[in-house]
Amino acid sequence: MRVLVTGAAGFIGSAYARELLTGAYPAWRDARVTVLDALTYAGNKANLAPVEDRLTFVHGDIGDAALLQRLVPGHDVVVNFAAESHVDRSIAGAADFVRTNVLGVQTLFDACLKAGVERVVHVSTDEVYGSIDTGSWDEHAPLAPNSPYAAAKAGADLLARAYHVTHGLPVVITRCGNNYGPYQYPEKVIPLFVTRLLTGGTVPLYGDGRNVRDWIHVTDHCRGIQIAAERGTPGEVYHIAGTCELTNLQLTERLLAACEATWDRVERVPDRLGHDRRYSLDDTKLRALGYTPRVSFAQGLADTVRWYAQNTAWWQQSAPKERAHAR
Ligand code: NAD
Repeated sequence: MRVLVTGAAGFIGSAYARELLTGAYPAWRDARVTVLDALTYAGNKANLAPVEDRLTFVHGDIGDAALLQRLVPGHDVVVNFAAESHVDRSIAGAADFVRTNVLGVQTLFDACLKAGVERVVHVSTDEVYGSIDTGSWDEHAPLAPNSPYAAAKAGADLLARAYHVTHGLPVVITRCGNNYGPYQYPEKVIPLFVTRLLTGGTVPLYGDGRNVRDWIHVTDHCRGIQIAAERGTPGEVYHIAGTCELTNLQLTERLLAACEATWDRVERVPDRLGHDRRYSLDDTKLRALGYTPRVSFAQGLADTVRWYAQNTAWWQQSAPKERAHAR
């Protein structure tokens, strides 16, 4: 089986490639893997170092139709992680988000159709639903995205549906909550806070800090994607929920404790524009296919903080570009 993984030099895609290539998914143990990644600011080939001798790396863009025409044929499966992924950047400027997350994905779907790829997995997010005060969304909830990032992701999800209904593209969509774990670019809240706390800095807490997110370890997310890839029904959406709903205040408390720091290191900053209050996914459908998260938040966070403490060279190379940007 030949598998093309797009965006696999980023945080989640690289975790998926490392898991796949170290035998975490027995049914695909013999998969031959190609990675396609544009190496934007968020892409880092070092994230693939533990498995680099077991994959073929192609530097390129999912929006490059000519490249895809050469690359995609011969692959049985395409798993798409490629995206612009940071909400704050989408507020500062949405063009790259529409270019990659909508046009790029449409170009990739066209290439998959033309090449007769047997299974496409499109990785999406809970943010496409907007915000929910109580309860949880199931897969039939209406899309009501509030950030340009979420709107672009919703656009791709709707294209996936349309390509399935109209052209029969065998695509499965997964939607997940907030991921954490090693190799996450230090613009997202957990690595941003951890790296700043470890270096004696302060951390920025948005608004009243009461926004709620559901946290999932990246390896649980990847296993959910794999279950959807192996057992999901084309045209269907599958939710992958986490293990821990926390307000940002509660998350900050845990991060301070993990880094042996106190509240005087927290700076209150104006809220993010259009900041969704709460996300929550009902993942009953994927659990019926055998999914359960395995990593508790307490254990996963302790391991993650340890990883950042032990891998300062990794994040110090990427962090300086970020310092000016992150709030
Ligand atoms: P990331 O920003 O860490 O990585 C994105 C990767 O895509 C990078 O390697 C980048 O170089 C690559 N890329 C960007 N534009 C590209 C293009 N045009 N062509 C080829 N490669 C390109 O993102 P992530 O956090 O790993 O997220 C991966 C996917 O999971 C995204 O689709 C995201 O929407 C989704 N997701 C993320 C989370 C989360 O908490 N991080 C939660 C749910 C869903």
